[in-house]
Amino acid sequence: MRQLRTLVGDVLDVLGDVGEGRATPVAPGGPTAVRAYAEDVLAEPLLPAAGGKPAEVLRQLVQAYANWAVDVSHPATVARMQCPPTAVAVAADLVTSALNQSMHAWEAGPFALELERRLIQDLADLVGYGTDAGGTVTAGGSISNIMAMLVARDEAYQRRFGRSTFDSGIAVGGVRPVVLCTETVHFSVDRGASIAGIGADGIIRVPADELGRMIPAEADRILTELPAGHLPVMLFVCAGSTDFGWVDPLPELAEVARRHGVWLHADAAYGGGALFSDRLRPLFDGLAEADSVTLDLHKFGWVPASAGIFLTRDAAHLEHLAAQQTSLNAPDDVAEGFVGRYGHSIQATRRCDALKIAATLRAYGRDGIGAMVDACHDLSRYGAARVGREPKLELAAEPVLSTVLFRYLPDGDTDVDTFNSGLRRQLMRDGHAMLARVFLPNAGGGKDVWLKLMLLNPATTGEQLDQVIDDVLAAGAALEAAGRS
Ligand SMILES: *Cc1c(COP(=O)(O)O)cnc(C)c1O
Repeated sequence: MRQLRTLVGDVLDVLGDVGEGRATPVAPGGPTAVRAYAEDVLAEPLLPAAGGKPAEVLRQLVQAYANWAVDVSHPATVARMQCPPTAVAVAADLVTSALNQSMHAWEAGPFALELERRLIQDLADLVGYGTDAGGTVTAGGSISNIMAMLVARDEAYQRRFGRSTFDSGIAVGGVRPVVLCTETVHFSVDRGASIAGIGADGIIRVPADELGRMIPAEADRILTELPAGHLPVMLFVCAGSTDFGWVDPLPELAEVARRHGVWLHADAAYGGGALFSDRLRPLFDGLAEADSVTLDLHKFGWVPASAGIFLTRDAAHLEHLAAQQTSLNAPDDVAEGFVGRYGHSIQATRRCDALKIAATLRAYGRDGIGAMVDACHDLSRYGAARVGREPKLELAAEPVLSTVLFRYLPDGDTDVDTFNSGLRRQLMRDGHAMLARVFLPNAGGGKDVWLKLMLLNPATTGEQLDQVIDDVLAAGAALEAAGRS
């Protein structure tokens, strides 16, 4: 521990120095500059024949890492869902590494197991689930969505054929498993479908309203008209879409799912944070009617990645993941309580990410986290109002959670999509701002390029956000001028 204390002290000094010396969210120069920098500072092999002094090795690597890190607490870091984590969560994360517990066996982390079990209970309670609920801390929203797809598939096959897909695989009865969702769900759905053996051809896109929300009557119609050989595995709905933050109409979709006996999964990886907010929580009414829910506390939640959550309304459904008998769940050990959470997961060895989540939840409480979510929501409305006043900018829609979607309108016949794509890359190259680019469906059936501000830093002020928008306007004007000359 003495060596750890010294090393941690050292690296915190390095981080402090690097932080003081920087003004932009990232160093300038783009991919070429970071490659050249890396080739320089990593000139020596990472695996030398003989090792070096830990303190020196660490300082050198951390210095380089931090120099070219994206500053997630900078007001102009608004591209990805990378929150600035709380200090209490980061400190807890250090303990997770130092004590190196694992979730897959009782003998690998007895208290860690109890902590995760309790955390899952409390988060299930937040969602509105009862005491039968179960779940797992996961490596993120994608993994949670993929787990949901696997559990729902196994449940559907079990009900139809009375057998576990763990034995039979999906090639039974000549059925075609399908998943229903809208066009604008997170791309992990496609990946999940691939892993679950459903494939892109098995994804049925349900028509959405003009805001991208699933139309319940359409979902009902598709399920009613499904050909006999099709096995509906799940209705995948969005509780806070990645771009607009919209919530599919949960109560109505729950009714459709129930009527057809189909698993309902709600993806609240981004939106779940709104559950902490009294103001935004009503948008999520009906969430507890879903059979499973994805949350992600490394987004709204201010915990460093990974901090994904997969919840099921009934813990018994997780049994599908535990179909295999291994040395980790031998019946005599299980009978006496010596059991890990291997059966709740698709991993074996697994970090105890519950510790940093629990520390943050306890230190801030629902009110504290809710206030941070509200601050981000306020900021997005402020940003949208500013965009609305700028003649060179077009706003895509009013914010729902914490995103601002807009684009720059260049003069003349410049292609708007190409222009905005180039503008975003230029801002990153200059190191001035990290924005996201999204492709939103347009009325003509195609897609348009828009820029996105993903606001997850409750400490950012309106003035600072104005500065970011000023920078976008200045870079846009410069790009236009360069195009004319
Ligand atoms: C971010 C996000 C995911 C994926 O989560 P990761 O933690 O990045 O894997 C899934 N669904 C939605 C709606 C998201 O916003």
